[in-house]
Amino acid sequence: MKYDAAIIGGGLAGLSLSIDLGKKGYSVIVIEKGNYPRHKVCGEYISMESHGYLQKICPDIGMYNLPYINNFKLSSTGKSEFTIRLPLGGFGISRYLLEDLLFKEAQKNGVVFMLDCKAFNMSYDIFEVEYTIKTNREDVYSNLVFNSTGRKSNFRSKFTESSTNSTNYVGVKYHIKLQRDAGFVELHNFPGGYCGLSGIEDNKTCLCYMVNSKKLNSVNNSISELERVYLFQNNHLKKLFKAAEFLYDEPLTISGINFNIKEPVVDNYFYLGDSAGSISPVTGNGMSIALRSASVLGNLVDNYFCNKITKQQLIEDYTSFWKNEFYIRMKLSRHFQKLSEYPFLTNLSISLFKPFPFLAKGIISQTHGVAF
Ligand SMILES: Cc1cc2nc3c(=O)[nH]c(=O)nc-3n(C[C@H](O)[C@H](O)[C@H](O)COP(=O)(O)OP(=O)(O)OC[C@H]3O[C@@H](n4cnc5c(N)ncnc54)[C@H](O)[C@@H]3O)c2cc1C
Repeated sequence: MKYDAAIIGGGLAGLSLSIDLGKKGYSVIVIEKGNYPRHKVCGEYISMESHGYLQKICPDIGMYNLPYINNFKLSSTGKSEFTIRLPLGGFGISRYLLEDLLFKEAQKNGVVFMLDCKAFNMSYDIFEVEYTIKTNREDVYSNLVFNSTGRKSNFRSKFTESSTNSTNYVGVKYHIKLQRDAGFVELHNFPGGYCGLSGIEDNKTCLCYMVNSKKLNSVNNSISELERVYLFQNNHLKKLFKAAEFLYDEPLTISGINFNIKEPVVDNYFYLGDSAGSISPVTGNGMSIALRSASVLGNLVDNYFCNKITKQQLIEDYTSFWKNEFYIRMKLSRHFQKLSEYPFLTNLSISLFKPFPFLAKGIISQTHGVAF
């Protein structure tokens, strides 16, 4: 069978595009190397900008009592902390629950899944106007192909910026129970990285930190030593870790995180979510970028299949949307990521933000988009 759309990678970006196109009546297949439900390393804070779209493509999300987050707290190795009301705010939901809900919604809308199936090559026949995807099972044929394989894709684009000089980070996540105000998203800086706290469903909190991999190497790759030696230099974090009830036996970890900017369309293949470019969570909202790309692609692809635009227009419109909305944010985020490794800079920022909170507001508004 030849599908209208084949989507490689069923993370947040791929699942939402699959539902969007499925709801519009197109035949869609998702090739996903993993399965659902599953935990993922992520801060699990979603900017309010994507709330409307998520509700539209997956109304079941409305059945959950999710914490709404309107305030932001920042701390570092110094004594003082800074709090501010978020202009737009966000909400918290675990990736485990979110992807499971999206997966079920996609199935309801007729999306076909090849799970536990890895794609390893794709080709485009310009004369037949047909794409072929090679997987570790059978080949898949489609009219359009979308690559949403995330930041650690095995599909390497020649347009990927070289990562040889870029710093690598490690991500660590726990779910915890902790007496805290769920209306806050918190960022606690420590030498080499920062730790985020965000409320999620069932009164749980997601505690997720990212650290320069050199720090982990310096403590013989021991997570508990990493926390003791580096994270606990921030007293707020030390207290927090002591008071928390940890809900996993072991933390969830990922390595090799870097923030490369790629291209949204290469050789007739469309990239969305982290596979087009990943933004540092410190200035973040990668999940909203993934969702926004899916919503824009959903409409453009519909226009293409309805013969309202040509393939060339589809490519140009998606490329210019992506570059206009995300390119500068991504470039800036790489600098903020580097700066956020140094507590003295965060301490300095806190002492500036206190008398001049509009400075913090300005930075925060750069990290959030407009509701869609
Ligand atoms: C430490 C950390 C904290 C973060 N915190 C936040 C946060 O609080 N808020 C926020 O908005 N963003 C956050 N982000 C960013 C966010 O996690 C990403 O932007 C988001 O997951 C991107 O979704 P995606 O669908 O593009 O990629 P992914 O979620 O990575 O999905 C890619 C999918 O493709 C599949 N896949 C890969 N290769 C293949 C293949 N060859 N064949 C088949 N399937 C394949 C994978 O199994 C996976 O399911 C954080 C990121 C990190 C690293």
